[in-house]
Amino acid sequence: MSTCFIVYPIRSDPIKQFYPILYRAVFLLLLFTLIAVTIPVKAGAKKNIFNPKNKRLIVLDPGHGGYDKGAQGAAGTFEKTIALTLAQLIVDELENEFEMILTRTDDYGLDIPSRINLTHHHKAELFISLHTGGSFLHQTNGIDIFYFERMSQYAIDYEETPHSTNSRFLAELIQKRFFEGEKKSKVQLRGAPLLILEGLDMPAILIEVGHLTHPAEEKKLTDKEFLADLAKKISQGIIDFFQKINE
Ligand SMILES: [Zn+2]
Repeated sequence: MSTCFIVYPIRSDPIKQFYPILYRAVFLLLLFTLIAVTIPVKAGAKKNIFNPKNKRLIVLDPGHGGYDKGAQGAAGTFEKTIALTLAQLIVDELENEFEMILTRTDDYGLDIPSRINLTHHHKAELFISLHTGGSFLHQTNGIDIFYFERMSQYAIDYEETPHSTNSRFLAELIQKRFFEGEKKSKVQLRGAPLLILEGLDMPAILIEVGHLTHPAEEKKLTDKEFLADLAKKISQGIIDFFQKINE
C-alpha cells in the first residue's frame, strides 16, 4: 500500500499539473464557440434583403394550368398563359435579390393543396398568386388585389394575425405601385375567403391583373411590354414590403 502512495503521486503529478491549463483551454474554447454561434444569429435576426447569402424566398403561383385554362378572352387568350408569362417576368425582376420559386413552370394542372404544400416545403416568406379576371359582364375591368378575409358570419371567430396584417400591408403597397400608371378606381383591394390564401402560413395575396373578358384589357395583356410594366410594379411593391417590415 505504501508503495502505491509513493508511486501514484510521482506518476500522476506531471499530468495533474496541466489540469488547470487544460480546464482553461476547454473553457476558452467553449466561450469562443458560444460567441461564434451567437454573433451570426444576432446579425441574421434582421435579414438584409439584398444580401445574396441570405436571400429571402418568394413563391409565385401562376394560376390555373393544363386542362384548367382559367378565364378566356374573345381573341382566344387564356388566363393560364398570361399568369405564367407574368410570373416569369417578375422572376426576371427579382431573382438577383430574392430566391424565386414558381409553383408551376410550364403548362400543366396543379391543385390548390399541391400549391400550398410546395410553398410550405420551401419555407417561403411571401406568396403571390397571379391571375387575370374573367366576367360574364364584358365591361368588367381593372386590377383586383385580394388578401384573406373570412365571410362576415365567421367574423366573430376571426382574429388579426401577423400574417393577415402583413398580407393586407403587402396588398396596399402593391396597390400604391399600380396607382402610378392606373386610375385609382381601377385598382381595388379586396378581402375574400380564398381557399389558397387561407391555407398559407406567411403573408399571401392573390392579384388579378386585369380582365381577359374585357376586349381592351385582353389586348393589353397580350402585350409583353405592358406585362413587363406590371411585373415591375409588383416587384417594386414586394421590395417596398420587405424594406418597410425590416425598418
Ligand atoms: Zn384565375
